[in-house]
Amino acid sequence: MQKVRIEIEEENREILRRYRGLLRVSQRSRSRADKLRIRKAFEIAMEAHKDMRRKSGEPYIYHPLAVAKICAEELGLDTLSIVCALLHDTVEDTDITLDDIQNLFGKKERTIIDGLTKISSVFDHTSSVQAESFRKMLLTLSDDVRVILIKLADRLHNMRTLEHMAREKQLKISSETLFMYAPLAHRLGLYNVKSELEDLALKAKEPETYEEIVSKLQKTQAVRTRFINAFTLPIRRALDKQGMKYEIKSRPKSVFSIWNKIHKKGVPFEEIYDLFAIRIILDTDPENEKADCWRVYSIVTDYYQPSPERLRDWISMPKASGYESLHTTVMSPTGKWVEVQIRSLRMDDLAERGYAAHWKYKDSPESPENKLDRWLSQVREVLENSSENAIEFIDNFKLSLFSEEIYVFTPDGELKSLPVGATALDFAFYIHSQIGYQCIGAKVNFKLVPLSHQLRSGDQVEILTSKKQRPKEDWLNIVVTASARQKIKNALKEEKKAIAEDGKEMLKRRFSHMKIDWLSANIDELVKHYNTDSSLELYYRIAKGNIDIKKLKGFQVENGRIFFERKEQPERISENTYVQSAPSKDETLLIGDEKQKVDFTLASCCNPIAGDEVFGFITVSDGIKIHRTNCPNAHELMSKYAYRVIKARWSSKEMVQFEVGLRFSGIDDVGLVQKITNIISTDMNVNMKAISFEANDGIFQGKVVVLVHDTEHLNSLMDRLKAIDGLLTVDRIESEFA
Ligand code: MN
Repeated sequence: MQKVRIEIEEENREILRRYRGLLRVSQRSRSRADKLRIRKAFEIAMEAHKDMRRKSGEPYIYHPLAVAKICAEELGLDTLSIVCALLHDTVEDTDITLDDIQNLFGKKERTIIDGLTKISSVFDHTSSVQAESFRKMLLTLSDDVRVILIKLADRLHNMRTLEHMAREKQLKISSETLFMYAPLAHRLGLYNVKSELEDLALKAKEPETYEEIVSKLQKTQAVRTRFINAFTLPIRRALDKQGMKYEIKSRPKSVFSIWNKIHKKGVPFEEIYDLFAIRIILDTDPENEKADCWRVYSIVTDYYQPSPERLRDWISMPKASGYESLHTTVMSPTGKWVEVQIRSLRMDDLAERGYAAHWKYKDSPESPENKLDRWLSQVREVLENSSENAIEFIDNFKLSLFSEEIYVFTPDGELKSLPVGATALDFAFYIHSQIGYQCIGAKVNFKLVPLSHQLRSGDQVEILTSKKQRPKEDWLNIVVTASARQKIKNALKEEKKAIAEDGKEMLKRRFSHMKIDWLSANIDELVKHYNTDSSLELYYRIAKGNIDIKKLKGFQVENGRIFFERKEQPERISENTYVQSAPSKDETLLIGDEKQKVDFTLASCCNPIAGDEVFGFITVSDGIKIHRTNCPNAHELMSKYAYRVIKARWSSKEMVQFEVGLRFSGIDDVGLVQKITNIISTDMNVNMKAISFEANDGIFQGKVVVLVHDTEHLNSLMDRLKAIDGLLTVDRIESEFA
């Protein structure tokens, strides 16, 4: 008893210590009133969560305290955000209601916490709770951007403490992080948060690969430092001579971005470990910062030859996220390209802390905060016009996240930014929906171009319209912006509805002529017979003449009801039939176990073999597919369709063989092919299905498909192959090796 009491006292002291730590870093909450509000939120959260513990066994309050601390310290947010961060889990997990929050604090707090509360259940089974919650969070964006910033802080803390979760949860949370939160952080200009999220997700998904890259980075640290010192020496001397105040920083690429290069481009670590950017940060006045940055550029290029295609001037034209910097890539004396970033202290602060730092510098109408506002209002516009389900919604949102921009001018010389790939039609919709609907063409730099013409930065665009023009179905293939797409869809839907009305009238007349009652059962019968998705579609096709109701065949009419003879057609299989026959969520699918009578196939996108870490995914028409957890599609499947993911592992009894593709490269050498095939078929006794080799300019490349039992078997084969002299790389091919 005594011991327990001492532990609790110790815990309470720790909670207070953490609370004081929060106050210490809350730079923007210095007034007495601010401190009182934070204290009040802390006390309420503390009381509400007092009986709860985290998976790690720690008191739950550590979590909201940590989230609030990230908001204050790493994002530089205000008192309102800190209060909401402290309370962010109370409505979801405790007895506190949104009304309580409003009474105790205010309306703003209520709105933000509402946005942070997950929706409790899903009614629409085509979507996942996660997707719906994410959509809800984005919708609140139009009320207050702080919702998203606090949510990112919440996600960051959950990722930092992920090791206490069950393996499946870790994989799911990491997938969502890579799929939605990291791109979101990137778009908001929170580069530090973005790379930390990505690194933590990789660490959870592929711990061994992660550790391998980290340890290789540590081993190569000294080489990098020596190189950087030598490279920057002449620049430092020149800058000192001119009496400039500056700091030079360099950072290697993040573990995740190295992994991405290795994984996606097949480049070995040894070729990229020394890729890094050198950053020169100037301590200079806002009036001189632009000129000073160009002075430094001129010094750098006095010593090193720049690559003309790789000059990026985000000083004259900052990115939509507010990012300002001057980038150039120069050739070092050792023959390596080095990226040099030049910026002022103010620009660096904005780049590192994004939106959070914008508070400090909001002044001119061209301030980054205004740019961010403009972006937020564009996103908001898409949200307000959207009728699609959560998954389509997220896809559209991602569309606006990933796009880099181009800048074009109106005939009056006004500057507008659009995503790369935007067409004249996108521009028309961007100006005004009505101009979009009536757009028949455009003049780009005074030359006539079609609607589908892709715009480029610097173009001056004039839209030509006609009152007779109507939106067309194929316009959907022309536009790239989410908002234009949405407007076209809405207009088409309206038009379709109007046409369908005519079809409905035609059918009504036909029914009365044939003594068929106008009943929904009769219409359903026709919908089924013609296999249209809805009555709207049926009416539309009738009006368009695709369905000829004068020639109705093979039916009977009885008492005003119509019946068609059923054709021998397999029932359309609904998703639910599969869900029922599949193992339930908590069960694990044992692959290769005869007793489990569940059909599955191995996914061709990642070609799993026994021993790989895998999961099952219930598809709509193709039974259960087994994917590797590091399949390129895994993030998307797990984040969008979490409810269709089932646990799976390999049954050990079976001795099945799996096809695996291997890719080699090496120095062309007589006898190399012989050596490879000898090891495979003679030494390892492995069957080969297909083999191809190609030599070009002394470099040799090959592919082979082999049959192995499991990953252990595969790894020992790969180890033997790697030991061959002259063979430089041996990799497993993810997909499409057949
Ligand atoms: Mn939380």
